[in-house]
Amino acid sequence: MLEQSVQQIKGVGEKLASYLNELGIYTISDLLFYFPFRYDEFEVKPLTELVHNETATLEGKVATQPSLAYYGKKKSRLTFTMQVGEFAVKVVMFNRAFAKKNLETGDVVTVTGKFDMHRLQLTATHFKKGEAKSEEPIQPVYSVNENVKIAALRKVMKQAVEEYGSEIEEVLPPDYLDMYKLPARSKAVRHMHFPESRILLKHARRRFTYEEFLVFQLRMQLLRKKYKEATSGTSLHYDNGLLTEFVQSLPFTLTEAQKRSLAEILKDMKSPHRMNRLLQGDVGSGKTVVAAISMYGAVTSGKQAALMVPTEILAEQHAASLRRMFGERLTIALLTGSVKGKRRRDIMEEMENGTIDVLVGTHALIQEEVKFNSLGFIVIDEQHRFGVEQRRTLREKGMKPDVLFMTATPIPRTLAITAFGDMDVSSIDQMPSGRKEIETYWVKGKMTERVLGFIRKEVEDGGQAYVICPLIEESDKLDIQNAVELFEQLREVYHPDITVGLMHGKLSNEEKEEIMHRFSDNRIQILVSTTVVEVGVDVPNASLMVIYDADRFGLSQLHQLRGRVGRGERQSHCILLADPKGETGKERMKIMTETTDGFRLSEEDLKIRGPGDFFGKKQSGLPEFKVADMVHDYRALETARKDAAEIIENGWLDRNQSFEPLKEMLRRDMEKLDESLD
Ligand code: ADP
Ligand code: MG
Repeated sequence: MLEQSVQQIKGVGEKLASYLNELGIYTISDLLFYFPFRYDEFEVKPLTELVHNETATLEGKVATQPSLAYYGKKKSRLTFTMQVGEFAVKVVMFNRAFAKKNLETGDVVTVTGKFDMHRLQLTATHFKKGEAKSEEPIQPVYSVNENVKIAALRKVMKQAVEEYGSEIEEVLPPDYLDMYKLPARSKAVRHMHFPESRILLKHARRRFTYEEFLVFQLRMQLLRKKYKEATSGTSLHYDNGLLTEFVQSLPFTLTEAQKRSLAEILKDMKSPHRMNRLLQGDVGSGKTVVAAISMYGAVTSGKQAALMVPTEILAEQHAASLRRMFGERLTIALLTGSVKGKRRRDIMEEMENGTIDVLVGTHALIQEEVKFNSLGFIVIDEQHRFGVEQRRTLREKGMKPDVLFMTATPIPRTLAITAFGDMDVSSIDQMPSGRKEIETYWVKGKMTERVLGFIRKEVEDGGQAYVICPLIEESDKLDIQNAVELFEQLREVYHPDITVGLMHGKLSNEEKEEIMHRFSDNRIQILVSTTVVEVGVDVPNASLMVIYDADRFGLSQLHQLRGRVGRGERQSHCILLADPKGETGKERMKIMTETTDGFRLSEEDLKIRGPGDFFGKKQSGLPEFKVADMVHDYRALETARKDAAEIIENGWLDRNQSFEPLKEMLRRDMEKLDESLD
């Protein structure tokens, strides 16, 4: 029943159905599980009962003429004092300049927003003239688009819940519902949409949080188990003597963290299980060296190895540095889109007949016509880190190499164990000694002039600079427009003695590579860019990183950007331009100036911004929970993890009738999984 089209619902016609489709809602079930992302609470409470920093609704009289201030582009701030009983509360409204016109002293208004108890201030999200209405105190707020209006969605939802809500079947075994005092699924769905009280909403959320975590953990643990059991002969017997000799030939000794990670990787290699490991560590911590030694290990066992990186120019750099490192020991080839004609055909042939030991390239390397002779080990760097696609491609080509993912965005421990339940993780949490630390400063926006002077000086001293544009979260398009404007501004400022370049996400790959080449050859001295440079190329001469509106970025991202400099001999600097409003913002800027430890920053980031933001929008491959929050609900996650382990260990999914619905839920996943392991 619930798998029928939403059109079955009374009041939903063809048109509305197609609009709902745009939201990813096709079936009745899709609709019922399209949960609000927040709730508006319009219950007016006495001021004395309000909680600091929580949403509240207040009713009162406008006591002062509203005053309006503009700042930035199209941004405004409207403030007035509202008399609530004996208290004078300051109301702040952003970007609602129009409200000023029809507000007079003495008007009764109802304002909802975040309440700051210490300042007696309400930052409004909702505002209306007149008294508060008393019905429907808690209103669901859904994410919608221009075709589906909130009010319409609420109406359809109400209808759906009434008509079909009771048909929602339970999936959790009754024992678990009892044990954790969780409401039944159908009841919980109803309260997710139309909670009669805060408490009922809380229980509904608690239920889905647990359900999501349990399903997720079962999936992860089953996956991991299957990986371990898939012993399809990938045991690589590397030559220890050759490896030791090579490590000793390096111009430095490995750090303890490098040694430990290397040992973990080699152990995986030797075992018959397929390696599925993440190697994480700050930029410059020596991951590539560890990966290189491992690749060499694979070659000494008679296999080929491949290194896959995000861009052509990175591939070139890696190929060059591997050649330097290995000299005569290995035959290394570079395969990118620009390798063409005979050279390309030669590489293909030599890959197939096994002359080439290590192939370096972009993702084209596993997608194209390359036939490996015996690929045993593949390293996947940076943005492909969650590599689901890559694994699939490899599998489709009938290859089952050990896979090592590398990332310079350290993943907080809490996330690593939970989100990457199907991966093993090695961490290089230590820097080689003798590194020059990047000096980081935080300055206010009004210092921009001086910063521009500092950039000029750095360039005149022979250095180069990155300038990262303000981030406008709502839209890529605006980000680019911003970048273009800043670029033109700076070009004027530095004309004619300094060349400024521009880089953003809408450029074609060739254009990007071209700009990076020119920057790396110092034909461009200042590179204005959006965050696309985050993953990138080594330009050892770049010694200055300037980041506009730095408080809008996540700490990990700032750290990542900062890692673009400090790769050469020059003392490098990072300047954060920011006027953070709140205390957390200031705190974050301070942390950036105090530490260059990526692990610490990632933990802080996670605390402040949550896991969704942590890896940036969607691209993360992180599980998407509708209700649960990996950080906030960490204890529930732990519980679910233990429960999942117990369920799997005891084989309850197969043996116990009450687990049937859960098993059914996992079945589709598991079928996909079985395919993926073939
Ligand atoms: P990552 O890939 O983590 O950014 P790399 O492996 O590219 O780091 O190493 C960065 C630089 O540090 C390279 O020039 C490398 O030769 C050097 N390096 C790596 N490990 C050590 C070490 N243990 N001691 C000194 N220098 C090292
Ligand atoms: Mg590297």
